[in-house]
Amino acid sequence: MDIEKSAITKNAVTVWKDCLSRIKENVTQMTYNTWFLPIKPVAFENNTLKVELPSQFFWEWIDEHYNSVIKNTINDVIGPGAKLEYVIMEEPVEDIRNITHVEKLPERIIVDKPKVNNDFETFLNPRYTFDNFIKGEGNQLARAAAGAISDNPGGTSFNPFFVYGGVGLGKTHLIQAIGNEIVKKFPDKKVIYLSSDIFTVEFVEAIQSNRVNEFSSFYRSMDVLIIDDIQFLIGKEKTQDLFFHIFNTLHQSRKQIILTSDKSPKNLKGLDERLTSRFQWGLTADIQPPELETRIAILNKKAEDYGMIISTEILEYIAMNITSNIRELEGCLIKLLANASLNSKEITLDLARKTVKEIATDRKINNISIDSITKTVCEHLNISENKIRDKTRKKEVVLARQLAMYLSKELTRASLKTIGLHFGGRDHSTVIHACMSIEKAKESDSNFKEMINELKNQIELSAG
Ligand code: ADP
Ligand code: MG
Repeated sequence: MDIEKSAITKNAVTVWKDCLSRIKENVTQMTYNTWFLPIKPVAFENNTLKVELPSQFFWEWIDEHYNSVIKNTINDVIGPGAKLEYVIMEEPVEDIRNITHVEKLPERIIVDKPKVNNDFETFLNPRYTFDNFIKGEGNQLARAAAGAISDNPGGTSFNPFFVYGGVGLGKTHLIQAIGNEIVKKFPDKKVIYLSSDIFTVEFVEAIQSNRVNEFSSFYRSMDVLIIDDIQFLIGKEKTQDLFFHIFNTLHQSRKQIILTSDKSPKNLKGLDERLTSRFQWGLTADIQPPELETRIAILNKKAEDYGMIISTEILEYIAMNITSNIRELEGCLIKLLANASLNSKEITLDLARKTVKEIATDRKINNISIDSITKTVCEHLNISENKIRDKTRKKEVVLARQLAMYLSKELTRASLKTIGLHFGGRDHSTVIHACMSIEKAKESDSNFKEMINELKNQIELSAG
């Protein structure tokens, strides 16, 4: 199996090399370095080349600007029937696992990840390491504990290790770095990383296929269980209950448990108290937004990683204006690079100003969540939020549900699958159907259209 896999990978590498040499002739050097070199070939099968991109933004950019370059190139290199599929390295919620992005992204596949044995996959992203995690005041405690845990998983008093903090501050990076380090130091240990959303989806699937015992014993057999964004278990009582039992088994046998959340255990309202109290048994560490020096250090490191030369003045400008989120700092650099390379401009302070502004607009979009949309719609139509998630086929509930699905598609970047998941585990075709019904109703009823616009405004306003 492994030999087969490596053969496939090798092939992908040669195919992509061929592609690169052609692309090189058709784009500027900067474009080539910025947008094509970071692409990694992962597999080649049935005329389909699978490549991995560093981020969702990266993919959107390439798709928008270099679609035809890529298409022509792979047609030339692979021949008729050639197809290219993208895999994204990082993504907030649906981090890894085979979640299909129905609308745009093809299947997500994982290759070349550290493995304990053939049928075991850690789902860790090798990009997240301690080496490229910058220390600062805001993450000092969490980082120190992370180091201690990777030296002695399950053997410190930091069990569970609970990391919390706002978005984009490095929680996922840090806990995956622990996982990667443990796999490196203790290759026999079974380490698994997943987000609590995926845990829930898998659990539901296990129920449907009558494999709950198998599911549960799989997670009980881990040496290190890393669950990201545990807040997504709120409102999912059955999953919480199962997780409670897995937690107990692992904790009793001194296996390491690592969790993150957007809030401290005490503030995780809606989560079973049996769980939140256990979360406080070990070490709870928060990650605070980085101070100016750390922000500058992070920008310096990332600029270096991207091979960018940017003046201190500009780096400082960015660090002073993007203050609360490391993902945004990173995004700003990439955007700056993009703006400069696309318009063959130099990276100037002016361009930096423009880019920082764009980031603020993006932030608005990212602040809109499916939950906040649901809440607004339900309030407006006077329907309880629970109803929208259950199976009711009452006319007004169906309308509210469809409207919330439609607005989620319009106002967030969530995939159809994710949207369906938020509304009682409906599948993507239901979401498509909902969007079409609303579009139709909008066309024929101007009052309805107006109401939708009002709702949109309201949702956007509350996102700040
Ligand atoms: P969170 O899980 O808290 O939302 P992430 O771990 O996804 O945040 O971090 C967002 C981005 O910022 C990632 O690309 C990550 O590599 C980067 N990042 C966060 N903290 C640091 C840090 N201390 N040093 C270097 N990069 C960081
Ligand atoms: Mg995260």
